[in-house]
Amino acid sequence: MEFEPKWIAWETTRRCNLACVHCRSSSELEVQGHPDFSLDQAQRIIDDIASYASPVLVLSGGEPLLRPDIFDIARYGTSRGLRMCLATNGTLVSDQTCLAIKDSGIRMVSLSLDGARAETHDNFRNQPGAFAGTMRAIERFNRHDIPFLVNSSFTVRNKDEIPEIFRLVKKLGATAWYMFMIVPTGRGQDVIDELIPESLYNEILEWHYRVEKEETEILMRPTCAPHYYRIVRQKAKEEGERFKRRNLQFSTGGSKGCLAGQLICLIDVDGEVLPCSYFPKSAGNINQIPFRRIWEESELFLKLRDFSSYQGNCGQCEYISVCGGCRARAYAMTGNYLAQEPFCSYQPRSGSQPSTSSE
Ligand code: SF4
Ligand code: SF4
Repeated sequence: MEFEPKWIAWETTRRCNLACVHCRSSSELEVQGHPDFSLDQAQRIIDDIASYASPVLVLSGGEPLLRPDIFDIARYGTSRGLRMCLATNGTLVSDQTCLAIKDSGIRMVSLSLDGARAETHDNFRNQPGAFAGTMRAIERFNRHDIPFLVNSSFTVRNKDEIPEIFRLVKKLGATAWYMFMIVPTGRGQDVIDELIPESLYNEILEWHYRVEKEETEILMRPTCAPHYYRIVRQKAKEEGERFKRRNLQFSTGGSKGCLAGQLICLIDVDGEVLPCSYFPKSAGNINQIPFRRIWEESELFLKLRDFSSYQGNCGQCEYISVCGGCRARAYAMTGNYLAQEPFCSYQPRSGSQPSTSSE
């Protein structure tokens, strides 16, 4: 595996007009101590990245549309050859926003939809009217011919709507649908009791496999459910079929389950480079260290790429190089990011005991 930065999420602001129950950055409208960086700083960061790699760069948040200069940043990234994307909660999208999206060269927009009905989505997003806002944004994207993908996050609170959300997203004309099981980071820690239990998690991934196998239009893949890659191999073998893997566009998905610090990373609003959006441990600060050095030399990233250092069942597992377990979930639940994935029930053939050591 070549460890190149292919996809970078960038927290362009920590401010947000919503306060979702699972928000990894605990965003809200006023944020103390984590100010937005300037356009000059943004351009310097883009120059730094573009001098080394040409990843997909996702302008994220908080809510990026709260920044008045967000399209200046996008335009600059496009001019430096980066493939720019925008991740928004959808509630602030106007026709003018759509024109600016196209004009600034943004290639894909991602939106969140966590319920098939307004009451479910609004409850998850802590905001009456959020569902209507997302639907309005989708209608506008379709009218302006802007490709969009939908991310849906699940806990036991909204899991019963998974198939219905999938059908709705497909009907709405999305390019892709990515189902995500929450990693308890940021405000996600408050819903730790709501996490989908391991047994049900497997059942949902198996449902996903059956649907994905037959699906020919919309791209789909569970995000950050690395053991899906194991389940797919097992099921396909059992059924004597080849699983046709389609190329995912502008997403973190790929040939391996967890890509944190291997093909992807997150730059937070303070410039800290983290392995992924849900992994609150810094590999270095891009305002002080060139991105190339952080990517190639940080101890954290080098450890994440050394699969032989993984512990417990993951460390013994024959699927380690296709799955890897969620390092952020291991970190959130045990304090040790090399520990075994806490939500995988697989017993590797060689057998092992769960790791109890901590980082
Ligand atoms: S550690 Fe890996 S699987 Fe977990 S949230 Fe990050 S990228 Fe996803
Ligand atoms: S034990 Fe770890 S590497 Fe193996 S399938 Fe489970 S999560 Fe993946």
